[in-house]
Amino acid sequence: MEKVLGLKCRECGRKYEKEPLHVCEFCFGPLEVDYNYEAIQKSISRRSIERGPTSLWRYADLLPIDGEPTDGLNSGFTPLVRAKNLEDALGVKELYIKDDTVCHPTLSFKDRVVAVALSKAKEFNFDTVSCASTGNLAHSVSAQAAIANLKCFIFIPADLEESKIIASLVYAPKVVGILGTYDDVNRLCSEIAGVYPWAFVNINIRPFYAEGSKTLAFEIVEQLGWEAPDHIIAPAAGGSLVTKIGKALKEFHMLGLIDKLNTKIHIAQAEGCGPIVTTLKENGDFVKPVRKPTTIAKSLAIGNPADGIYAVDTVRKSGGFGGHATDEEIVEAMKLLAATEGVFAETAGGVTLAVTKKLIESGHIGREDRIVISITGNGLKTVEALDGKVEEPRIIQPQLNAFKKLMSKVE
Ligand SMILES: *Cc1c(COP(=O)(O)O)cnc(C)c1O
Ligand SMILES: [Zn+2]
Repeated sequence: MEKVLGLKCRECGRKYEKEPLHVCEFCFGPLEVDYNYEAIQKSISRRSIERGPTSLWRYADLLPIDGEPTDGLNSGFTPLVRAKNLEDALGVKELYIKDDTVCHPTLSFKDRVVAVALSKAKEFNFDTVSCASTGNLAHSVSAQAAIANLKCFIFIPADLEESKIIASLVYAPKVVGILGTYDDVNRLCSEIAGVYPWAFVNINIRPFYAEGSKTLAFEIVEQLGWEAPDHIIAPAAGGSLVTKIGKALKEFHMLGLIDKLNTKIHIAQAEGCGPIVTTLKENGDFVKPVRKPTTIAKSLAIGNPADGIYAVDTVRKSGGFGGHATDEEIVEAMKLLAATEGVFAETAGGVTLAVTKKLIESGHIGREDRIVISITGNGLKTVEALDGKVEEPRIIQPQLNAFKKLMSKVE
């Protein structure tokens, strides 16, 4: 029996074949993968997963690929680190870092979604892959397209951090910088996808791509000894990751891989672009787009999040909440994470930790609870964010006396 039945509209429930399609033709709702959980139940177990590869493909039974996975074979199964120093700094009892800054080819959580998207694009026989990106997705699609010998077009806002642009260009894709926001880039890409027969990983392949995010939550549960934590705090850009964390936990619970499910899911966004969190705070029914995002957390700067309302729904049903972080708080949190746990996160990680701190202080997260923070990208990608925000090196002559003099001043 096939484990993937096809696609299904999240709004009206209408079913579709497996095709590179992301919007319902009848109600314009988003499509998602429709699994045959009865068939999956027969083959999946804790044991079968533990015997799998040490990559995100150990969860292949719950990913929408028909054949053997072909991409991202080294992605995922990142460390879950007990953060003792950070626990002391925050005044909590049990906190873990889900560290997606390492063990991925391009050092961000986007290698999860791209692993699934490119494996699927090949099953659909595309020869060109593409994406609209705020940076990390561009890196991952570029690198994995290079490995897979696929042609690659990358679309980004022209004002992205210089280092982020170079970290795509090195893999030799065609990079197009758009004079506009990410939402302008995304709108243009939707038009291009209607004309060019390409696999846009986050547009026409989106339902398949998004499933890759689930692996982050699967790993957390397995690494905690098949238990779900009390809290997961994750950053949101388009809202897909948070939505899929919710879906992953539900799937594991439904399939009997975890006994209890009481996890509160919380969203972290930047103050300068936090439309999903604003909806949570105002208890609203829809997500009002932010026209001009202004934040150093550019990888999260999506003003009109495609999965915003589903992320809100996931958080509400879990009993979680959300918070905004200012640029200053983001930098402070990046420094705190590095100085306590030796994890150099990009700005998005700063957002997550800063918001976690606030949610602990406001009582939304209990100090005795088991907490997991999702750190989704490596700081070496956004060093500019710390320009002038860390101490300067002291410059001396190459003489012992010069060093002694310096020490006498320091002490
Ligand atoms: C893309 C991304 C996210 C989450 O994005 P969603 O669009 O909400 O799924 C989180 N952190 C980083 C660093 C990212 O690049
Ligand atoms: Zn529909």
